[in-house]
Amino acid sequence: MDPSARKSRLYSVSLVTTSVNASRLHSRIAALARFGALPGGGVTRSCWSPPYEAARAWLLDEIRSAGLHGWVDLAGNVFGGLGAAAFSAATPVVLTGSHIDTVPEGGILDGALGVLAGLECLQAIRAAGAAPRRPLVVSAWSDEEGRYASLFGSRAFCGRLDAAATATMTAVDGERLVDAMARAGFDAHRAPEARAPDGAVHAYVELHIEQGPRLDEAGVPIAVVDSIVGVRRTRLIFHGQADHAGTTPMERRRDAFLAAAEYALKARELVVERGGGGSVTNIGVVQVHPGASNIVPGRAEIVHEMRSPDAETLERLARECEALATDVVDRRGIRFDAVRMSQTTPVACSPKVRAAVEAACKRLGLGWKTLYSAAGHDAQNLALIADAGMLFIPSRGGKSHRVDETSDAEAIERGASVLLHTLLTLAG
Ligand SMILES: [Zn+2]
Repeated sequence: MDPSARKSRLYSVSLVTTSVNASRLHSRIAALARFGALPGGGVTRSCWSPPYEAARAWLLDEIRSAGLHGWVDLAGNVFGGLGAAAFSAATPVVLTGSHIDTVPEGGILDGALGVLAGLECLQAIRAAGAAPRRPLVVSAWSDEEGRYASLFGSRAFCGRLDAAATATMTAVDGERLVDAMARAGFDAHRAPEARAPDGAVHAYVELHIEQGPRLDEAGVPIAVVDSIVGVRRTRLIFHGQADHAGTTPMERRRDAFLAAAEYALKARELVVERGGGGSVTNIGVVQVHPGASNIVPGRAEIVHEMRSPDAETLERLARECEALATDVVDRRGIRFDAVRMSQTTPVACSPKVRAAVEAACKRLGLGWKTLYSAAGHDAQNLALIADAGMLFIPSRGGKSHRVDETSDAEAIERGASVLLHTLLTLAG
């Protein structure tokens, strides 16, 4: 038998026999949950914070003791390589991963699952002696949750981080990214240098909890993700006239808050009626000036967020909301400014990655459902440079970004097994 035939036979035998070690995965999930653990359950582990840096060091140790090459790039992204110790166009890798930062008072699976299941898969493949054709790398992307800047690490890796922008990135409490990174031993100005060489990633697949109720309610174990929503945030500033709240006749008031409130109610109706069923909207920030009970509000600022899995729908909704705001202020005799804060475009997941996830489900005898992701993920950046996709397992009760976020132990094992077979297909 020639060596390549022997290799491919060995590979196919290994492909059938390789399996994840569920108890090792569960104990790593429990170990990571101790960094930034809260007394009542859940975890607060913001990127670059002391608990995060301790978790990063722990993860690097786990990667190295699993027999993988461990390294950290200039954006703080952590990598574990099987057959790779760096990124190069000469040897494109199959990449899997997620993030180990959390929102304040978050859960123990959002992000952590994808990183630790990826590590488990690479360790299992190495232990089985399987020799996939392409190297495999597991990643933990910096600041996915955006304490300073959403999807920061994957943006840097995919060449979407502007060097000038890093200087102004600031957390809501005013802390600057440059200071937080310096404390952790990183230079924020050099983060864009984490950009991977063109062609260095063959494919990317990310395992995540769904973070919503669709899978759990349908009783289906796996979701194959077909697209990831785009998110658009706009600050709307309504300029009215501050006046005495007792002496100004009602019909003469030009109340900026009431304009904002009318806009909020009507924008919701508009998005629900005209968003194609998959669009959502939220106004989570409201500020009224000067903010006194005896003064008619002269200025009101709101932050309007909209999400949609369809790029054209999101664009159309944005135009219609702007027309709505114009209509509201014209009728009320005031004016408004709109400032675009951030915008991501909905992305379609790669048919190649989707097919690999579906093939893995079939091989394991698991049912699946095709869903779009209603949350943003690092995969949307990877989709800009490579074939990228995601799979979800159910979130129990649909809960996420809260301390009681969880999934069943068997669901976690199933997700890791599907990830393993997906990686073997993509790398083989
Ligand atoms: Zn996440």
